[in-house]
Amino acid sequence: MKIITIVGARPQFIKAAAFSRKLSELTNWEEVLVHTGQHYDTNMSEVFFEEMKIPKPSYHFEIHGMARGEMLEKMQAAIEGVIKKEEPNWVLVYGDTNSTLAGARAAKKHGVKLAHVEAGLRSYNLEMPEEHNRVETDQLSDVLFVPSQNAIDNLKQEGLEKGREIVNVGDIMFDAVKFYASNNADEYESQPYALLTLHRAENTDNPTVLKRLLSTVNKINEQLQVVWPMHPRTKAKLRELEIPVEARVIEPVGYLEMLPLIQNSMFVLTDSGGLQKEAFYLNKYCITLRTETEWIELLNLGVNRICGSDESKVLEAFRYFSNTPFVVMNNPYGEGNTADKIIHFFRRK
Ligand code: UDP
Repeated sequence: MKIITIVGARPQFIKAAAFSRKLSELTNWEEVLVHTGQHYDTNMSEVFFEEMKIPKPSYHFEIHGMARGEMLEKMQAAIEGVIKKEEPNWVLVYGDTNSTLAGARAAKKHGVKLAHVEAGLRSYNLEMPEEHNRVETDQLSDVLFVPSQNAIDNLKQEGLEKGREIVNVGDIMFDAVKFYASNNADEYESQPYALLTLHRAENTDNPTVLKRLLSTVNKINEQLQVVWPMHPRTKAKLRELEIPVEARVIEPVGYLEMLPLIQNSMFVLTDSGGLQKEAFYLNKYCITLRTETEWIELLNLGVNRICGSDESKVLEAFRYFSNTPFVVMNNPYGEGNTADKIIHFFRRK
């Protein structure tokens, strides 16, 4: 059995690490890893391969720094070349990036079976390129590996259960947290702080929104130190707009640094999808700097608040979470054995 796995962006390296580690334990299975090059800085790409011992990609393209349409075309063409050469049984894609959709289109064009991990998530915000990527990828897929019942409901609403298999395997990122979270996280002890990440286009590419967010972050930072591993896209925008930053900015960190940073924080502020769940898995509240989330279970559990760039909402959530002890709750995203469940599915095929 031969699987081509497509990765390209930071969260995909983490997901692929969790799955590939399990797959590599099996005989008679071959995984061909394709890196599109969407993320390319050492601290956005290489560090994950090194730290998490992800095998070196068999194919590594350098497709980045261009508009979405062009990027999709270039990636698809490159992946098609790999498919023709390798003749896989399956193409496996993760999440919602341009690399995901390019892999999906390439697989379909060549009649190769397509599996989508993290299927069925919806923000219903069509301004987000990620929403377009995930909807089309789901439409093209033969098997949809979903993380939750809500994802199944979303797919059914779109009629996508017809002609496809939907399998609730839980969240692959929970596998990663369980495997890589440090038991000695408190060795990283420091002053209390809130952890911030920000990189979504809807926040970084709108100067008014970005300025408003920065002003709010600066206000929080007056009360509680904000530690901010800054995404290169955000760094470039802040520099361009000359927006003052008072938080403690650090370079993006590897996953093995990121998990203790979450574990030791008072809570998390983010517009990241993955980080919202990691905060929950590590018993931290999350203030989400977006107007919606795909991970609505976290809202229902009361551990996550959607605040957008609304300063009063952010500050209210900050006050509330600062004064409310976190209560550990049932996990709606499975048991952290998603990789095993995916492998079990492929074995039956
Ligand atoms: N992450 C990391 N280092 C950082 C910032 C984030 O390892 O400096 C991890 C984070 O813990 C999560 C993943 O990157 O596992 C999330 O990626 P990102 O926010 O870029 O994408 P999203 O989850 O929103 O698709």
